[in-house]
Parts: sequence; structure tokens; C-alpha cells
Amino acid sequence: MNMNQNFLKFVHAIVGEENATDDRAICASYSRDQHWHFVPAMNPAYVVRPANKEEVRKVLMLANEGKIPVIPYSTGINVRGLTIPVHEGSILLDLSRMNRIVEINPEMKTATVEPGVTFGMLLEKTRKYQLRPAFPDAPLTVSVLANYYLRGIYQTAAADGHDHTLSYEMVLPNGETIKTGSRSLSGMPYFRYGVGPDFTGVFCAHPGTCGVVTELTAKLYRLYDNRNVYFIGFDDVSTPTKFIYNLMHDELAASIRLVDNQSWLKGICGTFDYRYEELPKFVLCMLVEGVDGIFEAKDKLVGDYIKESGGKVLEFPEEFKRTFEEESLGGAEKSCMVFGLRGNYHCIGLYGPLTLAAKYYELHEKTALEVGIPTDHVHFYLDPIYSFHGQLCYVELDIFYDGSDLRFGEKLRNYNEKQFKRLLDLGIYGWFRPYAGIIEPTVARIGYLAEVWKKFLKVLDPNAIMNRGKLF
Ligand SMILES: Cc1cc2nc3c(=O)[nH]c(=O)nc-3n(C[C@H](O)[C@H](O)[C@H](O)COP(=O)(O)OP(=O)(O)OC[C@H]3O[C@@H](n4cnc5c(N)ncnc54)[C@H](O)[C@@H]3O)c2cc1C
Repeated sequence: MNMNQNFLKFVHAIVGEENATDDRAICASYSRDQHWHFVPAMNPAYVVRPANKEEVRKVLMLANEGKIPVIPYSTGINVRGLTIPVHEGSILLDLSRMNRIVEINPEMKTATVEPGVTFGMLLEKTRKYQLRPAFPDAPLTVSVLANYYLRGIYQTAAADGHDHTLSYEMVLPNGETIKTGSRSLSGMPYFRYGVGPDFTGVFCAHPGTCGVVTELTAKLYRLYDNRNVYFIGFDDVSTPTKFIYNLMHDELAASIRLVDNQSWLKGICGTFDYRYEELPKFVLCMLVEGVDGIFEAKDKLVGDYIKESGGKVLEFPEEFKRTFEEESLGGAEKSCMVFGLRGNYHCIGLYGPLTLAAKYYELHEKTALEVGIPTDHVHFYLDPIYSFHGQLCYVELDIFYDGSDLRFGEKLRNYNEKQFKRLLDLGIYGWFRPYAGIIEPTVARIGYLAEVWKKFLKVLDPNAIMNRGKLF
């Protein structure tokens, strides 16, 4: 019997008729995302919604046998085309029914979740322990597992650092299950480094191309009662870098964000009616927190650094402060209103040192102008992540635009083509995530590592069914 012709019949036997379909209308709803100027819309041939890991395993084995491409999809919020099919006949594996919080362990400060668990769901449960997950500046409806598994998380709580995943469980196309870190040895999922290499790190950040992650254990962080928020205005990107350096070096701020006065500030503060355009060009948003005694000492030192920062302390309404606190620590329902600014946004997200921040911004304005993008569409956002070691920052070069303007799409593609190369020449630590068009100019620069990477994927997925075409 031909597997591809009878796929639906076989898969119905695994997940039930109501959870697998080739209905065109349903498939079409998975065919595009906000990145459609770069990744053209395409329908998956099937949408399959497994309820548990055993069903995932059986569906993957079936797909592997028929060499049918599989695209794992947790909550599908991703705005970068990562779950849009590239091949005809693909299976969209929608994991949103697997939405159990398997464990919250306040002693270990960990949470173990399935793919469909969102930040909103997790935060609601951890709050009672005075804990929170590391929270991205994304909608509350984003999958915790998919976000951390992409590894490129940045969030506004700079003090949390970068890596929040401890271990996970992944099903491979051949039906085998891999557990990483201490989870593999003892069933205790609480330590990243179990036996041998750090497979937790090795599998992630090339999303959906190795296998399907069915469970992930992540760190939780402390929620403090004592907090203070500051907003400080600057006229350029370079003046506040010394100030940011001091704050990070002395580990004073839980959260720091340098945003331009229009885009992200409006985004953070959302719908508040305010004359944002009258603010200094850049605004540094900062949150200080801590236990009694330590909080007051930190806050005092922050005050001293502010005096010598070269910036101007801005008096914002109380609700701005509250919203920034929520943005940083989770739970901001107004999160990501920025799309409303011009309807759509394009960004290049990258990691680089604080020392290059002003240069990244300069290049952003220059390239945008060269391809005909006006300066008032050009925005910027910087989020320091580690307090030391390379002065790691997340940098976002944003362009806000009207998505229905096809000619603007052309300008964005030109911008990308120039900018990827220029940024690589200037020097970056890495890209935020493997978006369309990023991998091609990058693999040429990583030497033999690219060959090893390809071979590694071949070992895990010899028939190349996993999110095919998204990387190589
Ligand atoms: C307005 C907005 C703002 C955002 N801001 C931020 C931000 O500040 N910081 C940040 O970190 N992110 C941000 N994001 C991105 C967002 O967090 C990502 O969309 C999210 O992390 C992943 O989306 P998702 O859960 O819907 O995953 P999906 O879109 O379902 O999947 C994303 C990728 O992971 C793969 N994948 C999904 N699940 C699995 C699985 N179980 N096993 C294997 N592979 C899988 C998919 O195949 C795909 O390649 C923002 C998004 C939006 C819409």
C-alpha cells in the first residue's frame, strides 16, 4: 500500500479522525505568518495534532517511512516563517494539545513543561511560589518550550542571563527518544550537564530540524517585592554605553533596555496617550530590585551612576513604570503593541558586544537610507544580557512598515541582503534566530563547522524530513 496516498488513514488510527486533516481551509490557516515578504505562503498537506509523546513517536515513524516532511509547531506565534512549509506535501505537527505543566519544583527552582504550555499559563502557576520564568518580550500566548528551545531568547530581565534550559526530551524520526543532561541518567531533569557532551545545547537553536521536543525543564527566577523603575533620556546610542557598562558590571539592574523614543517605548507603554516624539531620541528603561537592605544599597548606587551618566531623568506617569515592570518580569498584557505603529515590523536580531552598539545603529540608518527606507521607519533596541563576559547584548535593528505595501517588501529584501553581509563584516557574536536568508551568507564564514553541522543533522534525520529546507 502506498504510504503517501494512505497517510491520512494511517495517521487517523494514531491520533483519531478529529485530530488529523487535509482540509484545505484548515491547512491554509497554517500557510503564512508575518514574514511573508521573505517566506512565501504555502499550505501544509496535512495538519496533525497529537495528544502525547507516544502519538508523536508513531506519527514521526510513519512520516519517516514515507519520507514526508514534518514541521513541528508548538504555538505557531513565530514571526519568522519557521513553521511555514517549504515543500509540497508537508505535515504540520501541531503540538498545542500537549499543554501539561508536568512539574513546578520550587525547591529546585524549575518548571517542566510540554510544548503547548504558554508563558501566561506558566506564570500563573509559578507566581504563588514568588517565582517566574525568564520572560521574553513576546505575547503571553507564546510556547515556553519553543521559545527556550530556539535558545535565542532575550528578555528584558537582563539579570537572568541567556540560557534558561536545563534538559529536555526529544523524539527522533526513527522513533527513538533522547533525554539530555541529568534527565538521561536518573530521571532528575534539574542539571544541564549529565554525561558526555552538552547535548541540551547541541540540539537546540536549529528549531525543528533534529526531532520533536516533547518536554523541557527550565530554570525559574525569584520575584522580588522591592522594585524601582527609572527612565533616562539620551540623544545618541554611544553616551549611555558607559552607564550601561557600570550597571551591568556591578550587577545593579535586573532589567535594562535602550530603546528609541518612538517604537519600543510606545510598544512597552502600549496604548497610553503620550507625546513620545517630544522625548530625547533614546530612552534607557531600567528596573532595580532586591531583598531588603540589598535593594536600598543598589538603588543608591544606581542614583550615583545616573548623575554621571550624561542623561536626563524622565518623569513618566506611574502606569508607564508598572508596565515596564510587568514587561521585564512577565505578565504584561499590553506586550508588543508595537505592530500598531505602522501595522507591521521587520527586524534583524543579533548578538554582539556593547562596545559595537553605536556602530550597529549607524549601519542600520545608513543601509536603510541606501535602499530608500525613510529614517522615521528606522528603529532600534538594545538589551544587555550578561553583566560581564563579552558584554553580551541583544541588538534589534527594526523597520516599521505597512505590510500591504508590496514595494516596501522589495526594499526590505534589499536591506536584508546588504545588511547581513555588512553586519558580518563589522562583527557580531551570532544571529538571534535562523531566519530566512541569514544562513546562506553565514555558513560560508564558519568553515568546516558548517560541514559538521550538516553531517550531524544527517545522523539524526537521515531522510531529511525534519523542517526540511529551513537551514540547508
Ligand atoms: C510580537 C512578538 C514579539 C516577540 N518578542 C520576542 C522577544 O522579545 N524575545 C523572544 O525570545 N522572542 C520574541 N518573540 C518570538 C516568540 O517568542 C517566538 O515566536 C517563540 O519563541 C516561538 O514561537 P512559538 O512558540 O509559537 O513556536 P513555533 O512558531 O510553534 O515554532 C518555532 C520554531 O520552533 C520549532 N519548534 C516548535 N516546537 C517544537 C518542538 N516541540 N520541537 C522541535 N521544534 C519545535 C518550529 O518548527 C519552528 O521552527 C516575539 C514574537 C512576537 C509575535
